[in-house]
Amino acid sequence: MSIKSTILGFPRMGSDRQLKKLVEAFWAGKATEQELAEGSRALRAEHWALQAARGLTEVPVSDFSYYDHVLDAAFAAGIVPERYQQLDAAGVQAYFAMARGLQDKAIGVDVPSLEMKKWFDTNYHYMVPEIADGQRFALSSTKVVDEYNEAKALGYAARPVVLGPVSLLALSKPAKGASSKPLDHLAGLLPVYVELLGKLAAAGAEWVQVDEPILALDLDAAVYRPLFEQAYGALAQVAGLKYLLTSYFDRLGDNLAWAAALPVHGLHLDLVRGGADLDAALETIPADKAISAGLINGRNIWKADLGKQLAVLRRIVDARKGAAPVWVSSSCSLLHSPHSLRPEAGHLDEETLGWLSFAEEKIEEVAVLAAAVANPGSVQAQLDDNAAKAASRRQSARITRPEVQQRLAGLDRSAYERKAPFAQRQAVQRAALQLPLFPTTTIGSFPQTAEVRKARAQFRKGALGKDEYLKFLDDETRKCIEWQDQAGLDVLVHGEFERTDMVEFFGEHLEGFVFTKKGWVQSYGSRCVKPPVIYGDVSRPHAMTVDVARFAQSCSPNKPVKGMLTGPVTILQWSFVRDDQPRSKTAGQIALAIRDEVVDLEAAGIRVIQVDEPAIREGLPLRKADYAAYLEWSVDVFRLATTGVGNATQIHTHFCYSDFNEIFTAIKSLDADVITIENSKSDLKLLGALEAHGYAAEIGPGLYDIHSPRVPSVEEMAARFAALQKYIPAENLWANPDCGLKTRGWPEVRQALENLVAVAVAARRSA
Ligand code: GLN
Ligand code: ZN
Repeated sequence: MSIKSTILGFPRMGSDRQLKKLVEAFWAGKATEQELAEGSRALRAEHWALQAARGLTEVPVSDFSYYDHVLDAAFAAGIVPERYQQLDAAGVQAYFAMARGLQDKAIGVDVPSLEMKKWFDTNYHYMVPEIADGQRFALSSTKVVDEYNEAKALGYAARPVVLGPVSLLALSKPAKGASSKPLDHLAGLLPVYVELLGKLAAAGAEWVQVDEPILALDLDAAVYRPLFEQAYGALAQVAGLKYLLTSYFDRLGDNLAWAAALPVHGLHLDLVRGGADLDAALETIPADKAISAGLINGRNIWKADLGKQLAVLRRIVDARKGAAPVWVSSSCSLLHSPHSLRPEAGHLDEETLGWLSFAEEKIEEVAVLAAAVANPGSVQAQLDDNAAKAASRRQSARITRPEVQQRLAGLDRSAYERKAPFAQRQAVQRAALQLPLFPTTTIGSFPQTAEVRKARAQFRKGALGKDEYLKFLDDETRKCIEWQDQAGLDVLVHGEFERTDMVEFFGEHLEGFVFTKKGWVQSYGSRCVKPPVIYGDVSRPHAMTVDVARFAQSCSPNKPVKGMLTGPVTILQWSFVRDDQPRSKTAGQIALAIRDEVVDLEAAGIRVIQVDEPAIREGLPLRKADYAAYLEWSVDVFRLATTGVGNATQIHTHFCYSDFNEIFTAIKSLDADVITIENSKSDLKLLGALEAHGYAAEIGPGLYDIHSPRVPSVEEMAARFAALQKYIPAENLWANPDCGLKTRGWPEVRQALENLVAVAVAARRSA
């Protein structure tokens, strides 16, 4: 039998982030629109060629995007808010203005971008379309058809990918002032899809992949089933096309029964994260529909266990008895995987290399699985090699540290508890710290100036010696502390000049982590991140921040300096995590390392310690039924990290990037002494949560948005601060910005913080 091998999408950036460079050159006026288009075309051709060469029988097309696929889908349907309509819609000006805003005095334009939001529980971010009352839709781009034609002309069996109409609207938000909901507009949107799909049919497409990732969420069937039936009933009118309906990142669960009955020709199953669907899927999916088996994990970097996945594939093939096609595919788009392992040869050791699989290698895994079923025996060597590598990983002495495993397993509940309840700790800390009412502080980082970045880069290249670099950091830290002191801040920070981001610094100091050379994945637009790889048991061979903190404290004889650490959940969330033990266990190991650091900081005389967990919300599972289990262990590991100290040591934590209301109860159970939390962009939301759930400990809702160079005035922050006092008892309220200041420049930081201190000082006077 023949079996199709394919993937749901390929990373767009290129092996050397060519797309990033191309797009950024275009933005900077250093490349023309034509150069952008041609460079992108070449990149697509290269990516199809490598997919075919590595064994795919069908390649996805229009998975490519200049910026974001949700933006592409909105743009193609003519969902262009009013404020961009003055711009050139045919060219890319309006498109990029929606992506990143446009400020151009010459043409008198100053428009902000669309809102950016996390793509499900990944670290990719999409642009949120806005749907107005009376929204009109019109097919405004033929990107999908053009890219299909491009692939076809090059001789590939190509399957266009489109974001499905229901998900497109469900991921949108109402335009400002709109009273209608995006999903109310489905009937208006469908003709655009029908027109586009008609063009694809006319161009010769056979299968079209329609992504409806919202099917992995809890959906109210009474609402969504009719919407899906309406949408796919309309799409079914287009003659000559077959639809592969996909969802990913979780099980279809309750949605499976009705999704399987939609008038589509195939269903994709994410069998990595949604394996629980399989039995029901084999019973429910009608015999004439194709099953696309998502067997290769698109979201991690480990070699698949091909033996195990082959058994799953065989089960599907046997169950379908040849009645309808079975495809082998990736669990989701490979957008979330780095491009290729090739640049890692010579950078990573042979053994580690043997455990990994990036997008290019994942394609080979797909092809091997398909071949193993189509021609049993034809890929025995590859299967044997895969099994050998898996065995090497299981048996490697580098992975397991018995002392770490035993320590974690041997903990009793007291390791997760402070020595006294908050009220008692608060009294002790007040006596010890002697802070004024409304203490002022910052979240940790100060501007990462060109000078700071240059010194770090030179140190890494070896152009700056270690001693000189450390001296440079000390000087920056001292200046930063002195400035904070003079500005009147109460709890100071060292400024984080030694760190690029929140995870890398810790990963570099902990055992169990490796760093790739080119393991980039797209985070949003042209921005890529290179997450560290956690391959083994995590331990802390030596203290990581104690020297820096001790030095910073020595520069501030009178005021406490906060120790600054990243929490276990955030380190986990922003890394590629080993898949051979539960995430909770890996998080527990990181927590132990952080706990030791916290205790060492305390012993070094640091009396305030902040453990940041901005990513705790993003780790939340997609399905509500799974929330409790996640929250239980994520709260536990934070507590494990922070409860080793005495009552007088004040533990802070910090949250930003998302809406925390849903997990506010969990945030309370972290039992931190002080939380600082992003607030300035959504005043009411946080206060609503405080009101609904109550909050007894100390809290500093951010007084201004640090994402903009704009300096907030005393008046506006004072107004916000006064509003906060209605919800938070004065003795528990802190004054601080929303988040760290590393992306800002010193001039605006100075002004903004001086204003912030003025607000607190004035509030003290009138209290
Ligand atoms: N301490 C970190 C900083 O100030 C926190 C960053 C964050 O919350 N994203 O940069
Ligand atoms: Zn933050």
